[in-house]
Amino acid sequence: MSPLPDAAGTTDGSSQRDRPECHTTLWYDDGNAIILAGSVLFKVHQHILSKSSPIWKACCVMNSQRTSDGFPVLRLDEDPLDVEHVLNGLYDTKNTIEARAVPLESVSAWLRLGTKYKISSLREDAIERLKSWSPNSCQLYEQIIVAHLPEATTKTISRLPDDCVASYIVANLALTHNLPQLLPYALYDCCRDIDRLMESVDKTVASYGRGIDCASPEIWRKLLVGRSKLVTLRAKTAFSFLTRSHAPKCLNVEQCTSTAQDMWDIAHAGRWTLDNADALQDLADHFIDKFAKNACTNCTLSWKEKFYISQQKIWDNLPDCFGIELSNEQWIRTVIA
Ligand SMILES: [Zn+2]
Repeated sequence: MSPLPDAAGTTDGSSQRDRPECHTTLWYDDGNAIILAGSVLFKVHQHILSKSSPIWKACCVMNSQRTSDGFPVLRLDEDPLDVEHVLNGLYDTKNTIEARAVPLESVSAWLRLGTKYKISSLREDAIERLKSWSPNSCQLYEQIIVAHLPEATTKTISRLPDDCVASYIVANLALTHNLPQLLPYALYDCCRDIDRLMESVDKTVASYGRGIDCASPEIWRKLLVGRSKLVTLRAKTAFSFLTRSHAPKCLNVEQCTSTAQDMWDIAHAGRWTLDNADALQDLADHFIDKFAKNACTNCTLSWKEKFYISQQKIWDNLPDCFGIELSNEQWIRTVIA
């Protein structure tokens, strides 16, 4: 085998500790290009690198550092794990946009390195996946909710890891890669359990790749301002169906008035409207349906209709909560007449 540089850049291998190790799987015997990241060596194919990235293509041609076989050696100032995610993405044809099961760690690497090295295929794929985790249209949001129901038959949209830090990572990637349309929903999701996020963000953030800041002042400022606005939206807008009154076409005024009063009392006694930022929670399922058996169908429908209109208003206001200006193309509003 041809001599390879160790991590110190020499070929004498004077320090065993610094000697780089060959990657266990991304080391192709017929490869003709070497990538060195940290202390890990990858042996891959020039045509894969050149086809994917114009920057790597230029490096393969112009790089003066070569193995004795004349193969270019690309030294990347990257975390080897990130390079592994990217190379796996380039080699593994199963990782196409149709096959949705790609972890956030990979998507994070694809976006960060895909942007830096102009690997457009992985960058675009990463953005599509991030969109399915942080939708920018109410329609896509509803598709995601339906796809995640236990009874859903198609699983075309992957779930974010069940980890409150995941949405923070999505927000961070969106902020640092000029994808503002992916910010509002990710920030909203962070606000739903901000205490847990504060407790765990610094412990897990590193696993999602280099360069993600667990204490991003801009994100935390948006979260703290946005959360209080979401609490108000939930109390005043999401619960605007709580009128303590029956609907105009009520079929049983006495019973429905009493039920409407019960709903009001329970919502306030149970602190449903207090200090809760989950403004998009489906209260039709979680709240109104529980009272439906004690009300006429017209009242139940009327309360639900008010609730769904309020949800559309909240959706349209989500970017404003966080002080994010988005065009109608970037944030698809529901446009209530
Ligand atoms: Zn009624």
